[in-house]
Amino acid sequence: MHLKAFHVFPKPITFVLLAFSIFLFSCKSGNEKTDPKADSIAAKKKADSIFVANGGFISAPFHYDPSKRYIYLTWDDGPQPPGTSTCMKVFKDLGVKATFFMVGMHGFDSYRMSLVDSVRNSYPQFLLANHSYSHAFRDHYATFYTHPDSAIADFMKVQDMYKIPVKIIRLPGNSAWVNDHEVKSAKSVRNVCNMLDSLGYNVMGWDIEWRFKNQGGSVPVQSVDQLLKEVNDAYDNRIAVNTPNNVVILAHDRMFAKPNYTDSLIKFVSTLKKDPRYVFETLDHYPGLKNIQKSK
Ligand SMILES: [Zn+2]
Repeated sequence: MHLKAFHVFPKPITFVLLAFSIFLFSCKSGNEKTDPKADSIAAKKKADSIFVANGGFISAPFHYDPSKRYIYLTWDDGPQPPGTSTCMKVFKDLGVKATFFMVGMHGFDSYRMSLVDSVRNSYPQFLLANHSYSHAFRDHYATFYTHPDSAIADFMKVQDMYKIPVKIIRLPGNSAWVNDHEVKSAKSVRNVCNMLDSLGYNVMGWDIEWRFKNQGGSVPVQSVDQLLKEVNDAYDNRIAVNTPNNVVILAHDRMFAKPNYTDSLIKFVSTLKKDPRYVFETLDHYPGLKNIQKSK
């Protein structure tokens, strides 16, 4: 029985090796015929799809309930300790989901990189998303958005560096939306949005910002009560939102480094949590996104 099996075995192996050799040869021939630029875009797309598959990101089960009010806490510019770690602790203590849009150049030491890893590894509670490598060449927005090729390279750099598991980007300094074949943006960023769209990325803006008043970005403008009123107004259609019943809130990790503002964050989230209509979600569950788990 065993001996017979041994004699039968080499035939399929030979066939598989032959087929694999033909496959390798055909790939090589194909590459030689394409132009280098198209080839590098194709290679990038292929690498993305392999990465996402190997990264094992699978969006958590989700059923949209139209009777609920979906709220997306989206915190930008991390890793910026101690704000980032403080916000993570608050969200964990209160049991709410949040999305962190992180900046590549802010991950300049091992502690900051460990915060990025921690966010990435905390899905489905936290989602790690892309906010560019250089934050638009350190806030030089006009230069950044008028050079779309280098802007795209900047986004792709942090996508790889942080092993971001989803194709969700927020533009620095600009609230633009690119979802399933729909681009809503200012003219100044449209070329970048169109290129990200063609690469299969979603671009997410925001509906309400918890603004900061000082240069360092550490002092909130609105009180908790003022912000809660804005949130309620957004659900009651007194403030325009991108998708009704889904409100995306922007804030910055660094704004909650000081204890009194940490308390403000706790009060804001816990007040919303007491109302059973509110559901905190990560942005991979925002309606109308392109497939975030595979390249187009
Ligand atoms: Zn930013």
